[in-house]
Amino acid sequence: MGIKLLKPSDPLLRQKSVPVTDFGIKLSRLAVSLHLLMRQKDGIGIAAVQTGRLIRLIIVSAPADSFLVPKNVYMCNPEIIYASEEKVESIEGCLSVIGCFKVQRHKIVTVRYQNVRGEFQQLTGDGLFSMCCQHEISHLDPGGLISQMGVPA
Ligand SMILES: [Zn+2]
Repeated sequence: MGIKLLKPSDPLLRQKSVPVTDFGIKLSRLAVSLHLLMRQKDGIGIAAVQTGRLIRLIIVSAPADSFLVPKNVYMCNPEIIYASEEKVESIEGCLSVIGCFKVQRHKIVTVRYQNVRGEFQQLTGDGLFSMCCQHEISHLDPGGLISQMGVPA
């Protein structure tokens, strides 16, 4: 499947992504393609919308500091069901934003999601895993990260 990143100025990046409802082979293929693209670009996370697919699918490939999390997690319809009150400053880059930016993130989050077979799962983590989950989930809704950051020239 030929997929590529949208340009940072693409208006699709500010659209709302819709829930994943079809957990068939096409979804698995798209997830694998996204994963490969993310690795090519040296990313630790990616959201389907970054390639113009407006569905709630993200990939997180980031370790936690004090929790055990899988190396690569494909998350459909991810939702943060717990976020620690404690926050930390995070300096982040994004495959759809030029340059880096500073944001406040919850130190620990629990994310509930469905895997590519539609089974519900949840993971808790801190560190990069937590930052990455919050970052990628923010791509899925119009008030999210991309809108806040605007488009650097
Ligand atoms: Zn991003």
